[in-house]
Amino acid sequence: MKFSCSLETSSERIRLVNVISPLIKAGYQLVTQRQEPSENGGNIIHVVAKSQGSKTQEDLIDDLSSIEGCTLFQLEIDGEGSADTIPSAVASAPPVTQDLDQKNALAAIGAQYPDIADIVRHYEASLPHESRAKAMHELGRKVGSGIYKRDYSLGSPLKMPTTINRELVPALKSFSKVKAKNNLVALTKCPFCKLSDSNHSGCHFVVGYIDGFLSSNPAVDRVRVEESSCGAGTTNICEFIIW
Ligand SMILES: [Zn+2]
Repeated sequence: MKFSCSLETSSERIRLVNVISPLIKAGYQLVTQRQEPSENGGNIIHVVAKSQGSKTQEDLIDDLSSIEGCTLFQLEIDGEGSADTIPSAVASAPPVTQDLDQKNALAAIGAQYPDIADIVRHYEASLPHESRAKAMHELGRKVGSGIYKRDYSLGSPLKMPTTINRELVPALKSFSKVKAKNNLVALTKCPFCKLSDSNHSGCHFVVGYIDGFLSSNPAVDRVRVEESSCGAGTTNICEFIIW
């Protein structure tokens, strides 16, 4: 299976060699590789490579997401004539979604961000009812925290409530229309509620996201987030209160 991927490293000290050595060790055959500086002070590493033997798509996502100091943000798999060719939409590919544990969900989210509503819904559906709310919150927390660190942690941190308008709202806008006023944030086309009835817990992901995003900001002391109104099955407008 041939694939191309892009990873962003967390610092300029983590370079091409730190990414390709583990890949070579894991048995991948490199086709091309390239490095460029990222806007966030790290490097962007682009790799085209082939897997050998019986590596599955899940193995690949596992291998890529376990490279230290890197975030996988783009992955395209080119089946090259093999019967189980799967297009770039890792998330909608049945072999991955059947067994979507948190690590795989995070890797798929990293690869597809911000187009993640399907992955989040698949992950939610794979969980037993009683643990959904907690697991969705935890997943959201990790994603929100990762996005803050990736996109907003450079420079001096903004305090509350400025960080809500200047950082959180733009971050949320990558997957929904957003309205914000003071400490109220509303996703006016919540993609996590779409297609679901009022029993869903997709918005726990958003609560976790906001929580993780703001908690990663060193200028924010303590934060509590609750969904004050959910539009699942009706308006699709979900409101969150932050204090
Ligand atoms: Zn909702």
